[in-house]
Amino acid sequence: MQQDQQRLRIALGNRSRCCCKPMFIGRYAHNGTVKACCERCGRLFPIDQFAFSEAVSKLKVPCAECGEAMQPTSNVDGLGSYGFSCECEARKLLSDLVPQISRALGTGPPGTDTSAGNTPYFGKAEMR
Ligand SMILES: [Zn+2]
Ligand SMILES: [Zn+2]
Repeated sequence: MQQDQQRLRIALGNRSRCCCKPMFIGRYAHNGTVKACCERCGRLFPIDQFAFSEAVSKLKVPCAECGEAMQPTSNVDGLGSYGFSCECEARKLLSDLVPQISRALGTGPPGTDTSAGNTPYFGKAEMR
């Protein structure tokens, strides 16, 4: 369960529209899509291609297969997912590198992530 600790916290170059605070890239638990997340309020924003390439431009992602630096790509899987590809054909999804949003924030908004911990809240259905 400590896995996410090793994940990359990638900051976006621009600030959030809601709080004017830094944003980082996180994985949305429900469907694995990556979003920009406001550090302050946790609001999610889509990441456009420009923001992605800017955010990862200084990042070095070594290939697990050959050790070379991987290249960022906005269509790593043929479905338009951000990720990294290598000359040796190895590929990595961006969503596999970044933390789950609710975990990265410490406390997720209720209902967005059921795997982050037990929410005793709504735990029992007592309607009969
Ligand atoms: Zn915000
Ligand atoms: Zn490689």
